[in-house]
Amino acid sequence: SALVQIRNLVKTYGEGEAETRVLKGLDMTLEESDLAALLGPSGSGKSTLLTILGTLMQPTSGEHVMLGQDLTQAGDGELTEFRNRHIGFVFQFHHLLPDFTALENVVFPTAISDGRETAQARKRGAQLLERVGLGHRIDFRATQLSGGQKQRVAIARALMNQPELVLADEPTGNLDRESAEQVMALIREINEDENTTFLISTHDEKIAAACRRQIKVVDGKTASA
Ligand code: ADP
Ligand code: ADP
Repeated sequence: SALVQIRNLVKTYGEGEAETRVLKGLDMTLEESDLAALLGPSGSGKSTLLTILGTLMQPTSGEHVMLGQDLTQAGDGELTEFRNRHIGFVFQFHHLLPDFTALENVVFPTAISDGRETAQARKRGAQLLERVGLGHRIDFRATQLSGGQKQRVAIARALMNQPELVLADEPTGNLDRESAEQVMALIREINEDENTTFLISTHDEKIAAACRRQIKVVDGKTASA
């Protein structure tokens, strides 16, 4: 069944003569356990769409429902709580804290949103680092890890709260071919084993082909690629 439903989504930036309409009545459905690539030329609105799906920005108009909840009607506090519980993020640049260990990087964001760092959270963090193939690196500082390893830490961090949806903005854009394919293989495994839905924006055709389906943003709307 549908995890996310977007209907007639419009997003404009600026006002008056400076107004730019980026999303022009976009429709999209993400199913539970989906693994979709988000394609489209630079400037087509992929980041805008991911930002709205991540509840970090409201659309100008349209419908955004996730887990049965109408998010366009939700207030800021409600959105923050919803995001912390249900959505994980992976970015092109890993955004790890360089002087902290892999485990600390995985556990800290949750500790901040919960207001405490529990033994249970550390245990889950360590399990997730095992899961992404970094069980032998949990106490390494971020600066001691390779690019591919750092991005795998970022994936473990995104999974900490068992999100239903992970939004990944060019997650392999900064990696060499081999590391990119390892990261994508890991995403596929997690998608299959945990039924986590992934939406992955990418310019990389091989990465897009490794997803179950491709969604393309063309002129502010979606088309099957
Ligand atoms: P993509 O991720 O596909 O490259 P973006 O969503 O980043 O596309 O950008 C789509 C369009 O919206 C671009 O023309 C960009 O210049 C414009 N845009 C993005 N963010 C803003 C903003 N905060 N203010 C004004 N224009 C923006
Ligand atoms: P992978 O492909 O598994 O992500 P690499 O082949 O890039 O890893 O790195 C091989 C090994 O070198 C790894 O065990 C990693 O910890 C180590 N390494 C990579 N970059 C650095 C660095 N800047 N400082 C210390 N060790 C590093």
